Amino acid sequence: MKRALRHDADGALLDHDGRCAKCGELVAVGDTRIEPGPGFRPTGAEADPVSAALNAAAARADLGVADHAGRLTTS
Ligand SMILES: [Zn+2]
Repeated sequence: MKRALRHDADGALLDHDGRCAKCGELVAVGDTRIEPGPGFRPTGAEADPVSAALNAAAARADLGVADHAGRLTTS
């Protein structure tokens, strides 16, 4: 999968060395955003039942729903 890295501070693209095209900084990994690059074509994640299920499970975990359900079943 092709991805583009951007500098979180100014939104500019990074080159392959991690240097920001706008401010010229060597950007630390924690200060980058990863986005689909120009060559990225969605292959229909919603049409893939396994990916959809994993995404749904991850979304529930983020919301703490799984933890809440766990406490309900053990009490
Ligand atoms: Zn920058």
